[in-house]
Amino acid sequence: MEIKANNPNLKSWVEVSAQSDFSIQNIPFGIYTDKEATHHACTAIGEYILDLHEAHQLGYFKDLNLPNAIFSQKHLNDFIALGKETTRRVRNRISDLLNLENNELQHAAHKNKILKKQSEVRMLIPVHIGDYTDFYSSIDHATNVGKMFRDPENALLPNWKHLPVGYHGRASSIRVSGHSFHRPKGQSKPNPNEPPVFGPCKLLDFELETAFIIGKNTEMGHSISTEKADDSIFGMVLFNDWSARDIQTWEYVPLGPFLAKNFASTISPWIVTLDALEPFRTKGYEQEPKVLPYLQYTGNKNIDINLEVLIQPENTDATVVSESNYKYMYWTMEQQLAHHTVNGCNVQVGDMMASGTISGTEKHQFGSMLELTWRGANPIKMNDGSERKFINDNDTVIMKGWCQKEGVRVGFGECKAKVLPAL
Ligand code: MN
Repeated sequence: MEIKANNPNLKSWVEVSAQSDFSIQNIPFGIYTDKEATHHACTAIGEYILDLHEAHQLGYFKDLNLPNAIFSQKHLNDFIALGKETTRRVRNRISDLLNLENNELQHAAHKNKILKKQSEVRMLIPVHIGDYTDFYSSIDHATNVGKMFRDPENALLPNWKHLPVGYHGRASSIRVSGHSFHRPKGQSKPNPNEPPVFGPCKLLDFELETAFIIGKNTEMGHSISTEKADDSIFGMVLFNDWSARDIQTWEYVPLGPFLAKNFASTISPWIVTLDALEPFRTKGYEQEPKVLPYLQYTGNKNIDINLEVLIQPENTDATVVSESNYKYMYWTMEQQLAHHTVNGCNVQVGDMMASGTISGTEKHQFGSMLELTWRGANPIKMNDGSERKFINDNDTVIMKGWCQKEGVRVGFGECKAKVLPAL
């Protein structure tokens, strides 16, 4: 089916600045609340949201045979489960309604009832996340971490180039942008010759990641091929996989991350559809040695998404500390999903699969403080004159992500959370 909504020539009657993440070519999906709506599905355009439930009740989707309450659910899972043909029709229809050349909504008296300022609504978590998986798929990140914690000569473990390494994380503590959480506490072993100690994490870190959201259930025993993987991926969000490095170093052998990761993760509120990202596809990493047949793929499967991390200390300006790009990924989402299901593991609508920290080759492109400061050896200078080795109490970490090409910008908005002192 044609993705009309991706036409780069479309213009909206809603004003959209050139810097806005929410052009008419984006049309992401989210859930908002305000004093009138407990939880309604919406899309974003410029500085506004468009309430999809109200639009549906007013008959704007009447030709699409959607269930009456599909946009007033707490989460988008039921909408996503309608399938890509339907969600693509909805996105195309929204694009029509917002198109400068379409008069249905732009002059309607009830326009202001369904178009609201983003600053006047609060975004909620867009999906119910049944299961969450975190991969480890950036070669520069895995190499940096391997150099620091193991052996600089053999930074990558022998399996790394043969399969996308991952672990099952915890879904219950994934929160939407705008939340705050308390610094985690736990065991660490700062001195190798002394017993472990207990206390607030001293090396709290962010991990710059994206995550994709599963759009189709599978049965146990079935696998998803790299070729079919895109049919099962609804869209993407930005993802901050908060990490307690001191806890992690002590606990992770032999079963991998546990309490160093499960205390909090943050996602951006808008799901940018895989359809909207399609024009920004780019060539994947040259994989050598050649991967097994079930991991091979054809076509351009990386995506050119600019990524940025800022740290904002309390009551002062934010400082940009990292500038990376999703295109540096070694393993693609299609390979990750093929690997995840090759053993017959089932996936469900709303499951979230994070990329792993996305680092580039240059020092300013590293996706964690661990790498940016090289384990604290080279602190980062902030705009207010202070220094950071890791994340301090009352710091807010903000992630941004956007694609830009030939005058079209498709972005994710912000993924932001504040660290409070340990309880
Ligand atoms: Mn991670």
